[in-house]
Amino acid sequence: MRLEEILFTQGFGTRRVCAGLIQQGFVRVDGAIVDDPGQAFATQGLRFTVQGVEWAYHEKAYLMLHKPAGTECSQKPSTYPSIYTLLPAPLRQRPNKGAVQGVQAIGRLDQDTTGLLLLTDDGQFIHRMGSPKHHVPKVYEVGMKHPIDSNQVDRLLAGVVLDDDPKPVRAAACEAVGPLQLRLTLTEGKYHQVKRMLAAVGNRVETLHRSRIGPLALPEDLAPGQWRWLEAAEVDALR
Ligand code: URA
Repeated sequence: MRLEEILFTQGFGTRRVCAGLIQQGFVRVDGAIVDDPGQAFATQGLRFTVQGVEWAYHEKAYLMLHKPAGTECSQKPSTYPSIYTLLPAPLRQRPNKGAVQGVQAIGRLDQDTTGLLLLTDDGQFIHRMGSPKHHVPKVYEVGMKHPIDSNQVDRLLAGVVLDDDPKPVRAAACEAVGPLQLRLTLTEGKYHQVKRMLAAVGNRVETLHRSRIGPLALPEDLAPGQWRWLEAAEVDALR
């Protein structure tokens, strides 16, 4: 693929901007400046730098973010900064079907919830992960206001009715891991589901952290606010 096109697909700007970056000597491949926008490279495993920013070519972007508290999962946040401000500009500017769309979060976490969030520019993948048929278990570490008793755990496992649907929702797994700590696994993602389920059994969520999505655990060395690419095997394991 031509270098100009490579930069364009990765979100470095319009084709014209990308050609300009190359012609001005801002792009290096294997450490050497390439100033011909038409020079072609194999994209598989290609690494390059643009104005010193290191980049690895990805046909589609799949990443994980450790969402910090006090951020909104919206492109147009109302109160707190958007999680998208934590990502480098190319990930927010990747073109998709002719328009600049960037990556999008797969589902949302509340502003005060922390933990594992996946993002991609693969619309089909977002659709499949969000489909009710695709029951990906999500594990939440929940800090409670009141001590948890076995009756609450039993009710969460049996199913509780929330205010917007007469059909009960139940936890796929639920265990008390401390007097005020609960580990809860859900296979659906209704609005404020964890908080509403705990309220329905007479308790209250104080802190909420998502530690796992299906086979993917939030790595301990990924600090709040940091992101990383998913490995191909990690993406395959989620499909
Ligand atoms: N359930 C909630 O109540 N909030 C979240 O952020 C995620 C699940």
